[in-house]
Formats: sequence, structure tokens, C-alpha cells
Amino acid sequence: MIATKGYAAQSPTSDLAPWNFERREVGPHDVQIEIQYCGVCHSDLHQIKDEWFPGIFPMVPGHEIVGKIIKVGDHVKKFAVGELAGVGCMVDSCGECGNCKDGLEQYCEVGNVQTYNNLGKDGLPTYGGYSNTIVVKEEFVLHVSDKLSLPAVAPLLCAGITTYSPLRFWKVGKGHKLAVLGLGGLGHMAVKWGVAFGADVTVLSTSPSKKEDAEKLGAHHFVVTTNEEQVAAVKGSFDFILDTVSAPHDFDFYLSLLKTNGIQICVGAPPEPMKINQGSLLGGRKSIAGSGIGGIAETQEMLDYCAEHNIVSDIELIDIKDIHNAYDRMVKGDVRYRFVIDIATL
Ligand code: NAP
Ligand code: ZN
Repeated sequence: MIATKGYAAQSPTSDLAPWNFERREVGPHDVQIEIQYCGVCHSDLHQIKDEWFPGIFPMVPGHEIVGKIIKVGDHVKKFAVGELAGVGCMVDSCGECGNCKDGLEQYCEVGNVQTYNNLGKDGLPTYGGYSNTIVVKEEFVLHVSDKLSLPAVAPLLCAGITTYSPLRFWKVGKGHKLAVLGLGGLGHMAVKWGVAFGADVTVLSTSPSKKEDAEKLGAHHFVVTTNEEQVAAVKGSFDFILDTVSAPHDFDFYLSLLKTNGIQICVGAPPEPMKINQGSLLGGRKSIAGSGIGGIAETQEMLDYCAEHNIVSDIELIDIKDIHNAYDRMVKGDVRYRFVIDIATL
């Protein structure tokens, strides 16, 4: 077994603290990565606080992982020691169902294995990237370009692919008015994609102080959702709303901003079920849709696109001991725009 250092929550009410544990030995199809950086996703906070479902504790969060490959199994073909690599939200899936065969491992019909807070096929808990090393099956490891700033690549593994995938699926681009709801980790990546794909991008935000940043990210318009005048000006105007909000919010209100046939795509995962008046949908043939991360091939496509177009996340690099301060700021919406842990500080 491989001795591993990490940061774990021992229960949903305890703070994260140093915790030593063991990872499996590198098998013939495995890659071992020395983790250098790990992004901090709002899903980490939802899960260590048991906001979605009862979690598996001790829990080592983290699914935006990048680092250097330090060992590969005998049968590994696509990776070599010394290369950079990334791991996102999944580390395994059945590989045989229709969705897995279609490259949609995130929708594996028997359930994929999440990078942490899940049980692997061996029945043992999985532990995430707030740790110094990880062993992952080759098929779930991604190639990372050395042309990009490595800490700023980490958030692409979740925030990046989660927003890239739906915009590609719905072919959002030229001629579309896209609203990005919530300018946090996911939202700021959604703005970058929307702009890169040629859409007219509006940020819908509760934080007036983010206007200048939104413009720097390339957004064409910025609407403070508590400002009645600004909201009135965009009523019934959007083809798509990409909803990245992490807390309960008023769907009827946001649906009113869509034009006829508009689609609100939910990627945010608030702890409570959504409430919608059907009238908000049928009065304009509107839809609410959802999307979960992205498949492995599409994640690689996105990382390659980033290397080609020089796209990374805007990050604040933090010491792991400052993780609770980062969580507090994230809950307040004060994220600019993804915290990334420097794992050397572990
Ligand atoms: P984040 O960085 O905290 O960003 C969320 C943003 O939503 C905030 O910065 C804030 O932006 C806005 N917001 C927060 N509370 C709000 C409220 N009550 N009403 C309106 N807006 C509010 O979080 P994240 O890491 O981007 O994650 C966002 C959500 O996506 C989380 O629920 C996470 O679990 C989920 N997620 C889903 C997937 C998936 O596969 N679908 C993958 C990753 C994450 P403003 O200041 O601009 O208002
Ligand atoms: Zn995430």
C-alpha cells in the first residue's frame, strides 16, 4: 500500500485536518500521480457538510487534480513517468453500458465511481485530491499540456468540463444570447466558453462588485439580479441560461428572462429540490434541463482546446491550512474565481 498524506473531514460537523491514509498499489493498468494542485469546488463543501446525502467519513475532498506522473503499471499505454496529468470527478465506471460506450461515463447506467465520497469497485472508499498522491485507472487519467499554468489548469477538470459540455451539447454560439447565472468557479468558466464560442454573453449576478471582472472575462453585459431596471431590460431575451447557482433560488424569476423556446440549463446542485410553477414553462414553451460534468473523451477535448486557445481558470492559490477561510468566502459568493490548493503546503 502507498502511504498518503491528506486533509480530511472526520464527520459532517468537523473541520478538515491532516489525516494519513493508504492508497492501493499501482496495478498493471494504473497511473500514480504526485498531486501538485487541487481546485476547491463548491461540491466539496456540499459533500463534507452532508448537504446532498450522508457521506462516507473520513472524507478527503478534491476532484480538480493535476500533477506529475511518478509511476505507471506494466500495461499502461497512454502515459509515461514525468508527464503532467489530471483527474476530475470520476475514477471508474462499468465501461460496458450504452452510456459508457458512448463516452458518457458520467451517466454510467450502474453508476460511475466518484473520485471521493464513493466506493470503488474493490468496495473501498475513494479519497480525493486534497492529498499528496493518487492512483487512478489509466482510462480516467487526462493528458495536461505543459504550455499552460498548471495551478490554473486544475479547475478545468470540474468547473471547466461541467460548463463546456452543455454549451457544446446545445451548440451554443454565434447568434445566441447566453446568460451565465452566478459568477463563481463554474460561472467564470462558462463566460470564457460562451465568449470563445461566439455567443453574446450576459452575466446574471447577485454581486454588483463583480461587474468589472465579468467584463475582463469577456462578458458583453452584466445584470445585477436585484436591480429591477436592469432586470426589466433583459426580460424574455435569452436563448439559454446556464445556471451555476449553488443555493436555492427562484426559478420562476429566472425563467421569465428566457425568450420563447429558451432553455435554462442547470449545472448548479443546490441541496434542496427546485420549485417551479408550470406556467413559467408553458407560457413560452420553455425548458429546464440539467447536465453533469462531461465524459472522459470530451474532458480531453476541452483540455486540448484550452492548450490551443490559451484558456485557463482565474485562480487564487492558497495554502491548505487556509481552506476554511476559502470555504467561508465561497459561501458568501466571494470567489475570484476558483481557489486552488498548493499541495506542497500539505
Ligand atoms: P461557487 O464558486 O460558489 O459559485 C456559485 C455562485 O452562485 C456564487 O459565486 C454566486 O455568484 C452565485 N450564488 C450563490 N448563492 C446564490 C443565490 N442564493 N442566489 C443566486 N446566486 C447565488 O460554486 P461552484 O463551484 O461554481 O459550483 C456551483 C454549483 O455547481 C454547486 O452547487 C456545485 O455543487 C455544482 N456543481 C455541479 C456540477 C455538475 O456536474 N453539474 C459540477 C461541479 C459543481 P454571484 O456572486 O455572481 O451571484
Ligand atoms: Zn466540482
